[in-house]
Amino acid sequence: MKRTLNVETIKYLKKGVKVCGWVQRKRSHGKIIFIDLRDRGGILQIIFTPKDKKLYQLAQKLKPEWVIEVTGIINRRPKGMENPKIETGKIELQPKDLKTLSQAKTLPFSVETPGYEISEKIRLKYRYLDLRRKRLRKNLEIRQKVIHFMRDFLIREGFIEVETPILTKSTPEGARDFLVPSRLQPGKFYALPQSPQQYKQMLQVAGIEKYFQIARALRDEDPRADRQAEHTQLDIEMAFTKQKDVLDLIEKLYLNLVKRLFPKKKITKIPFPRVTCKEAMRKYKTDKPDLRKDKKNPNELAFCFITDFPMFKWHEIEKEWGAMHHPFTKPQTDDLKKIKKEPEKVLAWQYDFSLNGYEIGGGSLRTTNPKILLAVFEVLGHKKQEVKKQFPHYFEAFSYGVPPHGGIATGIDRFLAVVLNEPNIREVIAFPKTGDNRDLMMGVPAEVNAKQLKESHIKILTKKKKKR
Ligand code: ASP
Repeated sequence: MKRTLNVETIKYLKKGVKVCGWVQRKRSHGKIIFIDLRDRGGILQIIFTPKDKKLYQLAQKLKPEWVIEVTGIINRRPKGMENPKIETGKIELQPKDLKTLSQAKTLPFSVETPGYEISEKIRLKYRYLDLRRKRLRKNLEIRQKVIHFMRDFLIREGFIEVETPILTKSTPEGARDFLVPSRLQPGKFYALPQSPQQYKQMLQVAGIEKYFQIARALRDEDPRADRQAEHTQLDIEMAFTKQKDVLDLIEKLYLNLVKRLFPKKKITKIPFPRVTCKEAMRKYKTDKPDLRKDKKNPNELAFCFITDFPMFKWHEIEKEWGAMHHPFTKPQTDDLKKIKKEPEKVLAWQYDFSLNGYEIGGGSLRTTNPKILLAVFEVLGHKKQEVKKQFPHYFEAFSYGVPPHGGIATGIDRFLAVVLNEPNIREVIAFPKTGDNRDLMMGVPAEVNAKQLKESHIKILTKKKKKR
């Protein structure tokens, strides 16, 4: 007999079914044993009575989280025994056969509650158990729906999804790179991408014109409670585009997405406000203002675009200029003198996308004029020859016909955390890391053996004491 999902059993009244799953709960009322069987779709009640002695004895042995397979008949529950809270609340399974597929030790925590009360360290160590809880399963399902919607929407808008490499070269996005040593090229390293920025621009030179990717961005940031070493972003790049086109596209995408997937949510203002950075700082003292009318309302979403950021920012400690966004952003002036002499005055075609006070995206139009690109890098303290060496493909590619282009990347984890009213992004990621970038379930980062080190041409100079 083929297996039936618990929620599907309502279609099989008085008929035989086979169900499989985990024992969520076992209760005894007098002589009757009730089992709540959990599978990926829901819960089904199974009742064992002493009438069938052999089966009853087997049922007595069952413990929570054992994996079982049960065949039997679906019956209507006696009057007054119905449970309106679950989909299968009007029926129950009268078993004919029971097989234990796997026994289970006592779990380190309950998976029946939302789980906020449990220490996160333990939850992350046993993430495969933590994910059994309904709340996290639902979060993963919604995450998939959001990503599916984005893909579908962009494909209908004529975009092509292109995968870009994970083993690549450093892209300055303002964080440290994760490095991967090359075995075949001793002494050389790949960097994991802080974003697909360079590739998506090369795809514009290639004539793709409308690119997107659900991309992983990897950044070796200093420990921060609510940041992840890897996050997922919807990465977009378009040719022959103006700032307005990018913002209009994002607005249409998020409006439709919220309408379709989160119909209970109210959007504070449509069209989404577009505020210059200067105006935002003057009015709200921040470049990611929370524009909700009622901050206590969990169903209000206030989207906002912030535009016209300064091109450069002064790093007081290092005493040097940095790029506000990244160096490939286009300044709002072609005046090379101004870029070099008064960098503080130069604005950029750069925009951020915020939601309820969180930055959930950012992007820019890009510089396609090599002279301006060089001038920007010079302000950032790079020598002309160095830049040409680090990014030769830009200068080469842009000499073969480059369309004006621009794009954006929006963070999927943060967006989900906000719409689902989750306190942090780890609640919407299947296997998140701790604030200091450890995966407690896999036990990484971890040491590697001497042979692997040798093959990678790596020598460990200092060994830090193990942190716990
Ligand atoms: N690469 C940028 C980022 O990841 C986004 C962009 O400029 O499109 O933040």
